[in-house]
Amino acid sequence: MFADLHLHTNFSDGTYTPEELVAQAAKHKLAAIALTDHDTVEGCERAEIACRAEGIEFITGSELTAEQAGNEIHILGYFLNRQNTRLLAEISKFQAVRQDRIREMVSRLNQLGVPLEVEAVFQLANCRSPGRPHVARTLVQAGLCDSLDEAFERFLKKNRPAWVPKAKMSALAAIELIHQADGLAVMAHPGLNRSDEVIPDLVEAGLDGIECFHTKHSATVSDHYLRIAQRFNLLVTGGSDCHGMSKGKPLIGTVKLPMDRVEKLKAARRTAS
Ligand code: AMP
Ligand code: FE
Ligand code: FE
Ligand code: ZN
Repeated sequence: MFADLHLHTNFSDGTYTPEELVAQAAKHKLAAIALTDHDTVEGCERAEIACRAEGIEFITGSELTAEQAGNEIHILGYFLNRQNTRLLAEISKFQAVRQDRIREMVSRLNQLGVPLEVEAVFQLANCRSPGRPHVARTLVQAGLCDSLDEAFERFLKKNRPAWVPKAKMSALAAIELIHQADGLAVMAHPGLNRSDEVIPDLVEAGLDGIECFHTKHSATVSDHYLRIAQRFNLLVTGGSDCHGMSKGKPLIGTVKLPMDRVEKLKAARRTAS
C-alpha cells in the first residue's frame, strides 16, 4: 500500500486532467494521492471525485513557490481547506504574477527575434497558473524549438535570455498561509534546492514536514533528509512530482511512499474535518 503525494495536472503545468491522473493512480494501485498543482487548488475537487470512484484516498494539496534568504523554496500544503478565503486570495495574486511573467517572457523572446504569440501560450496553458513549461511547449508546438529541453536551455532557464524572475512570497509567509487554511506545510524536494541552511528558520516558523522521497533524490539524498527530519522532528513525505506526459514517461507511481507515513501525516492534521 503506497501513496504518491506530489502530482500535477493541467490546472498547472502537468498534462493530465484530474481524471486522467486518477486513472493512472489506479493503474499503479496507489492507495492515496495528493494533488499539488502550482499555486492553485482548483483541480482538487475533480480529483477527489475521481478518487472516490476508484477507492483511492485523496488529499487536497498545492505547491507554493516561495523564497527564503534568496533561495527559491517550494512549500507543499496538505489537507488545505479549499474554501479558505485568504488562501484563495493569495494564490490568485500569484496566478496574476504568473500570467504577467508569461507576457514578459514572450516579450523578451520577441525581442530576441523569436516570433511567439502570447495568446498561443495562454491558449495552450488554458489554466490560471501558467508557467515556463507552457512557454516551452508552445515554442515546440510552433516549431520554434525542437524540444522542451532546448527551450529551457536556450531561453527559459535561470539567467537565460528570456528568463524572468518571479515575485514570490517568503517561505515563512507560505507556511503561515497554509496553517491558517488548516493545512500542513512541507518543504518540497529539498535536494533540488540545496539550501539546507534555511531549514532551521522554516522549522522555527512551524514547518511540519519535509519531502524526503522525490524523483530527483538519490538514495543518499533521501537518507540525508530522513536524518534531518529526525533531528527536527519533521513528518516525512514523498512523491514523484509527475507532470504527466510533459517530460516523456509519466512519473506517477515511481516514488512510493509507504502508507504509514500518510497515517502519521493525517494524525498531525491541524483540524479534523
Ligand atoms: P515556473 O513555475 O514557471 O518557474 O516553472 C517551473 C517548472 O518548470 C517546474 O515545476 C518544472 O515543471 C519545469 N522545469 C524547470 N526546469 C526545467 C527544465 N530544465 N526542463 C523542463 N522543465 C523544467
Ligand atoms: Fe511544475
Ligand atoms: Fe517544485
Ligand atoms: Zn511539483
